[in-house]
Amino acid sequence: MWDQSEIDPSSRPAFANLTTSIQADVCVVGLGGSGLACLTELLRAGADASRVVGIEAAAVGSGAAGRNGGFLLAGTAAFYHDAVRTFGHDRARRLYELTISQIDAIAAETPEAVRRTGSVRVAASEDERLDCMAHLDALRADGFPGEPYAGQEGFGLLVPTDCAFDPLRRARSLACRIAGRGVRLYERSPVVRIVDGEVQTGEGRVQCEHVVIAVDGRLAVLLPELRPRIRDVRLQMLATAPTTEISVPRPVYARWGYDYWQQLPDGRLALGGFRDYGGEDEWTSDATPTGAVQERIERFLRDELRVRAPVTHRWAAAVSYSTNGLPVFGEVRPGIIATGAYSGTGNVIGALCGRAAARLALGEPAEIADLLAA
Ligand SMILES: Cc1cc2nc3c(=O)[nH]c(=O)nc-3n(C[C@H](O)[C@H](O)[C@H](O)COP(=O)(O)OP(=O)(O)OC[C@H]3O[C@@H](n4cnc5c(N)ncnc54)[C@H](O)[C@@H]3O)c2cc1C
Repeated sequence: MWDQSEIDPSSRPAFANLTTSIQADVCVVGLGGSGLACLTELLRAGADASRVVGIEAAAVGSGAAGRNGGFLLAGTAAFYHDAVRTFGHDRARRLYELTISQIDAIAAETPEAVRRTGSVRVAASEDERLDCMAHLDALRADGFPGEPYAGQEGFGLLVPTDCAFDPLRRARSLACRIAGRGVRLYERSPVVRIVDGEVQTGEGRVQCEHVVIAVDGRLAVLLPELRPRIRDVRLQMLATAPTTEISVPRPVYARWGYDYWQQLPDGRLALGGFRDYGGEDEWTSDATPTGAVQERIERFLRDELRVRAPVTHRWAAAVSYSTNGLPVFGEVRPGIIATGAYSGTGNVIGALCGRAAARLALGEPAEIADLLAA
Protein backbone atom coordinates (compact mmCIF):
# COMPACT_ATOMS: atom_id res chain seq x y z
CA MET A 1 0.00 0.00 0.00
CA TRP A 2 1.23 3.46 -0.79
CA ASP A 3 1.06 5.03 2.60
CA GLN A 4 1.57 8.71 3.29
CA SER A 5 2.53 7.90 6.90
CA GLU A 6 5.79 6.45 5.59
CA ILE A 7 6.68 9.96 4.53
CA ASP A 8 5.30 11.71 7.59
CA PRO A 9 4.59 9.31 10.47
CA SER A 10 2.77 12.04 12.39
CA SER A 11 0.09 12.20 9.68
CA ARG A 12 -1.65 8.98 10.80
CA PRO A 13 -4.48 9.69 13.25
CA ALA A 14 -5.46 6.96 15.72
CA PHE A 15 -8.85 6.37 17.25
CA ALA A 16 -9.97 3.91 19.92
CA ASN A 17 -11.97 0.80 19.15
CA LEU A 18 -15.59 0.60 20.25
CA THR A 19 -15.96 -1.56 23.36
CA THR A 20 -19.15 -0.23 24.97
CA SER A 21 -22.77 0.46 24.14
CA ILE A 22 -23.36 4.05 23.03
CA GLN A 23 -26.17 6.12 21.53
CA ALA A 24 -26.26 8.46 18.56
CA ASP A 25 -28.62 10.10 16.09
CA VAL A 26 -26.54 9.08 13.08
CA CYS A 27 -23.92 6.33 12.81
CA VAL A 28 -21.73 6.29 9.70
CA VAL A 29 -20.13 2.94 8.89
CA GLY A 30 -16.88 3.16 6.91
CA LEU A 31 -14.29 5.92 7.25
CA GLY A 32 -13.13 6.20 3.64
CA GLY A 33 -13.73 9.18 1.37
CA SER A 34 -17.51 8.67 1.23
CA GLY A 35 -18.10 8.16 4.95
CA LEU A 36 -15.88 11.10 5.85
CA ALA A 37 -17.68 13.33 3.32
CA CYS A 38 -20.95 12.26 4.96
CA LEU A 39 -19.69 13.16 8.43
CA THR A 40 -18.36 16.50 7.15
CA GLU A 41 -21.73 17.32 5.63
CA LEU A 42 -23.61 16.32 8.79
CA LEU A 43 -21.57 18.89 10.69
CA ARG A 44 -21.98 21.51 7.98
CA ALA A 45 -25.75 21.01 8.07
CA GLY A 46 -25.81 21.67 11.80
CA ALA A 47 -26.04 18.17 13.27
CA ASP A 48 -25.08 17.95 16.94
CA ALA A 49 -21.53 16.56 16.78
CA SER A 50 -21.94 14.76 20.10
CA ARG A 51 -24.79 12.73 18.54
CA VAL A 52 -22.81 11.60 15.49
CA VAL A 53 -20.57 8.52 15.39
CA GLY A 54 -18.24 7.04 12.75
CA ILE A 55 -17.15 3.41 12.82
CA GLU A 56 -14.31 1.84 10.84
CA ALA A 57 -13.33 -1.83 10.52
CA ALA A 58 -9.61 -1.11 10.24
CA ALA A 59 -8.12 2.41 10.10
CA VAL A 60 -9.21 5.73 8.54
CA GLY A 61 -8.61 5.53 4.79
CA SER A 62 -7.36 1.95 4.94
CA GLY A 63 -9.82 0.70 2.30
CA ALA A 64 -9.91 1.81 -1.32
CA ALA A 65 -9.67 5.46 -0.22
CA GLY A 66 -6.06 4.96 0.83
CA ARG A 67 -5.07 2.62 -1.97
CA ASN A 68 -6.36 4.15 -5.15
CA GLY A 69 -4.98 5.67 -8.30
CA GLY A 70 -5.54 9.23 -7.14
CA PHE A 71 -7.62 10.50 -10.06
CA LEU A 72 -10.42 12.99 -9.48
CA LEU A 73 -12.59 12.35 -12.52
CA ALA A 74 -15.86 14.04 -13.37
CA GLY A 75 -18.83 11.87 -14.28
CA THR A 76 -19.62 8.27 -13.49
CA ALA A 77 -17.48 5.22 -14.31
CA ALA A 78 -18.81 5.31 -17.90
CA PHE A 79 -17.14 7.72 -20.33
CA TYR A 80 -19.38 10.73 -20.95
CA HIS A 81 -20.73 9.72 -24.36
CA ASP A 82 -21.43 6.20 -23.05
CA ALA A 83 -23.20 7.67 -20.02
CA VAL A 84 -25.39 9.83 -22.29
CA ARG A 85 -26.32 6.78 -24.33
CA THR A 86 -26.91 4.50 -21.35
CA PHE A 87 -28.48 6.78 -18.75
CA GLY A 88 -30.10 9.42 -20.94
CA HIS A 89 -28.84 12.85 -21.86
CA ASP A 90 -30.29 14.97 -19.06
CA ARG A 91 -29.29 12.55 -16.35
CA ALA A 92 -25.74 12.11 -17.65
CA ARG A 93 -25.29 15.86 -18.07
CA ARG A 94 -26.54 16.67 -14.56
CA LEU A 95 -24.33 13.96 -13.03
CA TYR A 96 -21.35 15.39 -14.87
CA GLU A 97 -22.16 18.93 -13.66
CA LEU A 98 -22.53 17.76 -10.07
CA THR A 99 -19.25 15.87 -10.15
CA ILE A 100 -17.36 18.86 -11.57
CA SER A 101 -18.74 20.94 -8.68
CA GLN A 102 -17.78 18.15 -6.30
CA ILE A 103 -14.17 18.29 -7.49
CA ASP A 104 -14.21 22.00 -6.63
CA ALA A 105 -15.69 21.22 -3.22
CA ILE A 106 -13.01 18.59 -2.52
CA ALA A 107 -10.27 21.01 -3.61
CA ALA A 108 -11.69 23.81 -1.44
CA GLU A 109 -11.96 21.53 1.60
CA THR A 110 -8.57 19.83 1.31
CA PRO A 111 -6.40 21.86 -1.08
CA GLU A 112 -3.30 20.05 0.21
CA ALA A 113 -4.63 16.81 -1.35
CA VAL A 114 -5.51 18.11 -4.83
CA ARG A 115 -3.38 19.14 -7.83
CA ARG A 116 -5.25 20.84 -10.65
CA THR A 117 -3.52 19.02 -13.48
CA GLY A 118 -6.33 17.82 -15.75
CA SER A 119 -6.26 14.20 -16.90
CA VAL A 120 -5.69 12.53 -20.23
CA ARG A 121 -7.39 9.54 -21.75
CA VAL A 122 -5.24 7.91 -24.43
CA ALA A 123 -6.16 5.28 -27.01
CA ALA A 124 -4.51 1.91 -27.35
CA SER A 125 -6.05 1.17 -30.80
CA GLU A 126 -7.64 2.91 -33.78
CA ASP A 127 -11.10 1.96 -32.50
CA GLU A 128 -10.33 3.56 -29.20
CA ARG A 129 -8.94 6.67 -30.86
CA LEU A 130 -12.30 7.12 -32.61
CA ASP A 131 -14.02 6.52 -29.30
CA CYS A 132 -11.90 9.23 -27.67
CA MET A 133 -13.09 11.63 -30.37
CA ALA A 134 -16.72 10.67 -29.74
CA HIS A 135 -16.08 11.18 -26.02
CA LEU A 136 -14.63 14.64 -26.69
CA ASP A 137 -17.47 15.59 -29.06
CA ALA A 138 -20.07 14.65 -26.44
CA LEU A 139 -18.35 16.74 -23.77
CA ARG A 140 -18.07 19.75 -26.05
CA ALA A 141 -21.64 19.43 -27.31
CA ASP A 142 -22.78 19.98 -23.72
CA GLY A 143 -20.33 22.80 -23.05
CA PHE A 144 -17.99 20.76 -20.85
CA PRO A 145 -14.25 21.41 -21.14
CA GLY A 146 -12.17 18.98 -23.19
CA GLU A 147 -9.53 19.17 -25.90
CA PRO A 148 -7.81 16.79 -28.29
CA TYR A 149 -4.56 15.42 -26.92
CA ALA A 150 -1.40 14.23 -28.66
CA GLY A 151 1.70 13.75 -26.55
CA GLN A 152 4.25 11.32 -25.20
CA GLU A 153 1.49 9.15 -23.72
CA GLY A 154 -0.35 8.79 -27.05
CA PHE A 155 -3.47 10.22 -28.70
CA GLY A 156 -6.78 10.94 -27.07
CA LEU A 157 -8.33 13.76 -25.10
CA LEU A 158 -7.47 16.02 -22.21
CA VAL A 159 -10.06 16.89 -19.58
CA PRO A 160 -8.84 20.05 -17.83
CA THR A 161 -11.34 19.91 -14.96
CA ASP A 162 -10.01 16.57 -13.64
CA CYS A 163 -7.28 16.51 -10.97
CA ALA A 164 -4.56 14.46 -9.37
CA PHE A 165 -5.37 13.56 -5.80
CA ASP A 166 -3.89 12.18 -2.58
CA PRO A 167 -6.93 10.37 -1.16
CA LEU A 168 -5.27 9.10 2.01
CA ARG A 169 -4.10 12.56 2.92
CA ARG A 170 -7.62 13.90 2.48
CA ALA A 171 -9.13 11.07 4.53
CA ARG A 172 -6.78 11.71 7.42
CA SER A 173 -7.26 15.49 7.29
CA LEU A 174 -11.04 15.15 7.34
CA ALA A 175 -10.98 12.59 10.16
CA CYS A 176 -8.83 14.87 12.33
CA ARG A 177 -11.12 17.82 11.67
CA ILE A 178 -14.31 15.85 12.31
CA ALA A 179 -12.96 14.38 15.55
CA GLY A 180 -11.77 17.88 16.54
CA ARG A 181 -15.38 19.05 16.28
CA GLY A 182 -16.48 16.41 18.80
CA VAL A 183 -17.66 13.52 16.60
CA ARG A 184 -16.78 10.13 18.10
CA LEU A 185 -14.73 8.08 15.63
CA TYR A 186 -13.78 4.45 16.23
CA GLU A 187 -11.25 2.30 14.38
CA ARG A 188 -10.58 -1.46 14.44
CA SER A 189 -14.32 -1.99 15.03
CA PRO A 190 -15.79 -4.03 12.17
CA VAL A 191 -19.56 -3.84 12.03
CA VAL A 192 -20.92 -7.37 11.98
CA ARG A 193 -24.67 -6.73 12.12
CA ILE A 194 -27.21 -3.96 11.87
CA VAL A 195 -30.54 -4.84 13.39
CA ASP A 196 -33.45 -2.90 14.93
CA GLY A 197 -31.71 0.45 15.10
CA GLU A 198 -28.53 -1.05 16.50
CA VAL A 199 -25.14 -1.24 14.81
CA GLN A 200 -23.18 -4.12 16.32
CA THR A 201 -19.43 -4.55 16.28
CA GLY A 202 -17.54 -7.44 17.87
CA GLU A 203 -17.25 -5.66 21.22
CA GLY A 204 -19.63 -2.70 21.09
CA ARG A 205 -23.00 -1.36 20.02
CA VAL A 206 -24.37 1.92 18.66
CA GLN A 207 -28.08 2.53 19.13
CA CYS A 208 -29.11 5.12 16.58
CA GLU A 209 -31.95 6.48 14.49
CA HIS A 210 -30.09 6.52 11.20
CA VAL A 211 -27.26 4.44 9.82
CA VAL A 212 -25.26 5.43 6.74
CA ILE A 213 -23.30 2.53 5.27
CA ALA A 214 -20.48 4.11 3.28
CA VAL A 215 -18.61 0.98 2.36
CA ASP A 216 -17.67 0.46 -1.27
CA GLY A 217 -15.94 -2.93 -1.43
CA ARG A 218 -17.76 -5.59 0.67
CA LEU A 219 -20.98 -3.52 0.67
CA ALA A 220 -23.01 -6.66 0.00
CA VAL A 221 -21.47 -8.40 3.01
CA LEU A 222 -23.31 -5.91 5.23
CA LEU A 223 -26.35 -5.70 2.94
CA PRO A 224 -26.81 -9.09 1.24
CA GLU A 225 -29.99 -7.90 -0.45
CA LEU A 226 -27.77 -5.81 -2.77
CA ARG A 227 -25.98 -8.91 -4.05
CA PRO A 228 -27.85 -9.22 -7.36
CA ARG A 229 -27.00 -5.59 -8.19
CA ILE A 230 -23.35 -5.41 -7.19
CA ARG A 231 -20.16 -7.47 -7.27
CA ASP A 232 -16.81 -7.03 -5.55
CA VAL A 233 -13.69 -6.71 -7.65
CA ARG A 234 -10.01 -6.46 -6.75
CA LEU A 235 -8.01 -3.59 -8.27
CA GLN A 236 -4.21 -3.63 -8.10
CA MET A 237 -1.37 -1.13 -8.31
CA LEU A 238 2.33 -0.70 -7.78
CA ALA A 239 4.61 2.28 -7.12
CA THR A 240 8.24 2.90 -8.00
CA ALA A 241 10.99 4.77 -6.25
CA PRO A 242 11.23 8.45 -7.29
CA THR A 243 12.48 8.68 -10.85
CA THR A 244 13.39 11.31 -13.43
CA GLU A 245 13.40 8.76 -16.29
CA ILE A 246 9.97 10.00 -17.30
CA SER A 247 7.84 13.07 -16.68
CA VAL A 248 4.09 12.53 -16.43
CA PRO A 249 2.48 15.90 -15.74
CA ARG A 250 -1.08 14.63 -15.27
CA PRO A 251 -2.92 11.36 -14.57
CA VAL A 252 -3.25 9.09 -17.61
CA TYR A 253 -6.13 6.74 -18.31
CA ALA A 254 -5.58 4.17 -21.09
CA ARG A 255 -7.02 1.10 -22.83
CA TRP A 256 -10.72 1.84 -22.25
CA GLY A 257 -10.00 2.89 -18.68
CA TYR A 258 -8.51 -0.44 -17.63
CA ASP A 259 -5.03 1.01 -17.04
CA TYR A 260 -4.00 4.19 -15.27
CA TRP A 261 -0.90 5.90 -13.95
CA GLN A 262 0.32 9.15 -12.54
CA GLN A 263 3.57 10.57 -11.22
CA LEU A 264 3.51 11.77 -7.64
CA PRO A 265 5.07 15.12 -6.70
CA ASP A 266 8.21 13.32 -5.40
CA GLY A 267 8.73 11.57 -8.76
CA ARG A 268 7.33 8.16 -7.88
CA LEU A 269 5.13 6.50 -10.48
CA ALA A 270 1.89 4.94 -9.26
CA LEU A 271 0.58 2.56 -11.91
CA GLY A 272 -2.41 0.24 -11.86
CA GLY A 273 -5.09 -1.64 -13.71
CA PHE A 274 -4.68 -4.66 -16.03
CA ARG A 275 -7.48 -6.30 -14.07
CA ASP A 276 -8.57 -8.19 -17.19
CA TYR A 277 -5.26 -10.09 -17.17
CA GLY A 278 -6.32 -11.75 -13.92
CA GLY A 279 -9.56 -13.04 -15.46
CA GLU A 280 -12.39 -14.25 -13.25
CA ASP A 281 -10.07 -14.46 -10.22
CA GLU A 282 -10.23 -10.68 -9.87
CA TRP A 283 -13.95 -10.78 -9.01
CA THR A 284 -13.19 -11.07 -5.32
CA SER A 285 -13.12 -9.04 -2.12
CA ASP A 286 -9.70 -10.49 -1.26
CA ALA A 287 -7.27 -7.56 -1.28
CA THR A 288 -4.05 -9.55 -1.80
CA PRO A 289 -1.94 -8.54 -4.84
CA THR A 290 -1.48 -11.41 -7.32
CA GLY A 291 1.39 -12.46 -9.58
CA ALA A 292 -0.64 -12.48 -12.80
CA VAL A 293 -1.76 -8.86 -12.57
CA GLN A 294 1.34 -7.47 -10.84
CA GLU A 295 3.63 -9.01 -13.49
CA ARG A 296 1.53 -7.48 -16.26
CA ILE A 297 1.59 -4.03 -14.61
CA GLU A 298 5.36 -4.28 -14.19
CA ARG A 299 5.82 -5.39 -17.81
CA PHE A 300 3.97 -2.28 -18.93
CA LEU A 301 6.17 -0.15 -16.66
CA ARG A 302 9.35 -1.63 -18.11
CA ASP A 303 8.40 -2.19 -21.77
CA GLU A 304 5.98 0.64 -22.52
CA LEU A 305 6.85 3.42 -20.09
CA ARG A 306 10.54 2.35 -20.19
CA VAL A 307 11.06 3.02 -16.50
CA ARG A 308 13.78 1.04 -14.69
CA ALA A 309 13.28 2.50 -11.19
CA PRO A 310 12.71 -0.23 -8.60
CA VAL A 311 9.19 -1.14 -7.55
CA THR A 312 8.84 -0.20 -3.89
CA HIS A 313 5.16 -0.90 -3.19
CA ARG A 314 2.52 -3.31 -4.46
CA TRP A 315 -1.04 -3.27 -3.24
CA ALA A 316 -4.67 -4.08 -3.97
CA ALA A 317 -8.08 -3.20 -2.59
CA ALA A 318 -11.64 -4.31 -3.20
CA VAL A 319 -14.34 -2.08 -4.65
CA SER A 320 -17.88 -2.88 -5.81
CA TYR A 321 -19.10 -2.66 -9.37
CA SER A 322 -22.80 -2.32 -10.10
CA THR A 323 -24.53 -4.18 -12.89
CA ASN A 324 -26.13 -1.01 -14.29
CA GLY A 325 -23.00 1.18 -14.00
CA LEU A 326 -24.60 3.58 -11.50
CA PRO A 327 -23.71 3.70 -7.80
CA VAL A 328 -26.06 2.25 -5.22
CA PHE A 329 -27.56 5.11 -3.24
CA GLY A 330 -30.57 5.47 -0.98
CA GLU A 331 -32.52 4.07 1.93
CA VAL A 332 -32.28 0.31 1.52
CA ARG A 333 -33.97 -0.60 4.81
CA PRO A 334 -35.92 1.70 7.14
CA GLY A 335 -33.36 4.03 8.70
CA ILE A 336 -30.47 2.50 6.76
CA ILE A 337 -28.96 4.49 3.89
CA ALA A 338 -26.40 2.78 1.68
CA THR A 339 -23.90 4.37 -0.66
CA GLY A 340 -21.28 2.53 -2.70
CA ALA A 341 -20.62 0.46 -5.84
CA TYR A 342 -18.93 3.27 -7.71
CA SER A 343 -17.54 0.80 -10.27
CA GLY A 344 -13.92 1.80 -9.72
CA THR A 345 -14.23 5.59 -9.75
CA GLY A 346 -15.53 6.62 -6.34
CA ASN A 347 -13.29 9.49 -5.29
CA VAL A 348 -15.63 12.15 -6.63
CA ILE A 349 -19.05 10.55 -6.88
CA GLY A 350 -18.42 8.79 -3.55
CA ALA A 351 -17.94 12.17 -1.86
CA LEU A 352 -21.03 13.51 -3.62
CA CYS A 353 -23.09 10.53 -2.47
CA GLY A 354 -21.65 10.67 1.04
CA ARG A 355 -22.77 14.28 1.41
CA ALA A 356 -26.19 13.46 -0.04
CA ALA A 357 -26.53 10.56 2.43
CA ALA A 358 -26.03 13.07 5.24
CA ARG A 359 -28.89 15.16 3.87
CA LEU A 360 -31.16 12.11 3.65
CA ALA A 361 -30.28 11.14 7.22
CA LEU A 362 -31.34 14.64 8.30
CA GLY A 363 -34.66 14.20 6.52
CA GLU A 364 -33.82 16.49 3.61
CA PRO A 365 -34.18 15.65 -0.08
CA ALA A 366 -31.11 14.70 -2.13
CA GLU A 367 -31.16 15.30 -5.89
CA ILE A 368 -28.63 12.54 -6.45
CA ALA A 369 -31.15 9.96 -5.21
CA ASP A 370 -33.35 10.59 -8.27
CA LEU A 371 -30.39 10.76 -10.64
CA LEU A 372 -29.09 7.39 -9.45
CA ALA A 373 -32.45 5.64 -9.22
CA ALA A 374 -32.28 2.40 -11.21
C1 LIG B 1 -6.38 0.22 -6.99
C2 LIG B 1 -7.55 1.17 -7.05
C3 LIG B 1 -7.47 2.29 -7.86
C4 LIG B 1 -8.55 3.18 -7.90
N1 LIG B 1 -8.39 4.35 -8.57
C5 LIG B 1 -9.35 5.30 -8.49
C6 LIG B 1 -9.15 6.57 -9.06
O1 LIG B 1 -8.07 6.89 -9.56
N2 LIG B 1 -10.17 7.47 -9.01
C7 LIG B 1 -11.35 7.17 -8.40
O2 LIG B 1 -12.26 8.01 -8.39
N3 LIG B 1 -11.57 5.98 -7.82
C8 LIG B 1 -10.58 5.04 -7.83
N4 LIG B 1 -10.77 3.85 -7.21
C9 LIG B 1 -12.03 3.60 -6.53
C10 LIG B 1 -12.09 4.37 -5.22
O3 LIG B 1 -10.92 4.13 -4.48
C11 LIG B 1 -13.28 3.94 -4.39
O4 LIG B 1 -14.45 3.94 -5.17
C12 LIG B 1 -13.47 4.89 -3.22
O5 LIG B 1 -12.29 4.95 -2.47
C13 LIG B 1 -14.64 4.47 -2.38
O6 LIG B 1 -14.64 5.23 -1.20
P1 LIG B 1 -15.46 4.70 0.01
O7 LIG B 1 -15.23 5.64 1.12
O8 LIG B 1 -16.85 4.45 -0.40
O9 LIG B 1 -14.84 3.26 0.29
P2 LIG B 1 -13.48 2.90 1.03
O10 LIG B 1 -12.43 3.88 0.83
O11 LIG B 1 -13.18 1.48 0.70
O12 LIG B 1 -13.89 3.02 2.56
C14 LIG B 1 -14.80 2.14 3.14
C15 LIG B 1 -14.30 1.86 4.53
O13 LIG B 1 -15.25 1.00 5.14
C16 LIG B 1 -14.56 0.11 5.95
N5 LIG B 1 -15.41 -1.05 6.17
C17 LIG B 1 -15.68 -2.06 5.32
N6 LIG B 1 -16.49 -2.95 5.90
C18 LIG B 1 -16.75 -2.47 7.14
C19 LIG B 1 -17.49 -2.96 8.24
N7 LIG B 1 -18.15 -4.11 8.18
N8 LIG B 1 -17.51 -2.23 9.38
C20 LIG B 1 -16.85 -1.03 9.48
N9 LIG B 1 -16.12 -0.55 8.47
C21 LIG B 1 -16.07 -1.26 7.31
C22 LIG B 1 -13.29 -0.21 5.19
O14 LIG B 1 -12.27 -0.68 6.05
C23 LIG B 1 -12.96 1.12 4.55
O15 LIG B 1 -12.03 1.88 5.30
C24 LIG B 1 -9.73 2.92 -7.15
C25 LIG B 1 -9.81 1.79 -6.35
C26 LIG B 1 -8.72 0.94 -6.27
C27 LIG B 1 -8.82 -0.26 -5.35
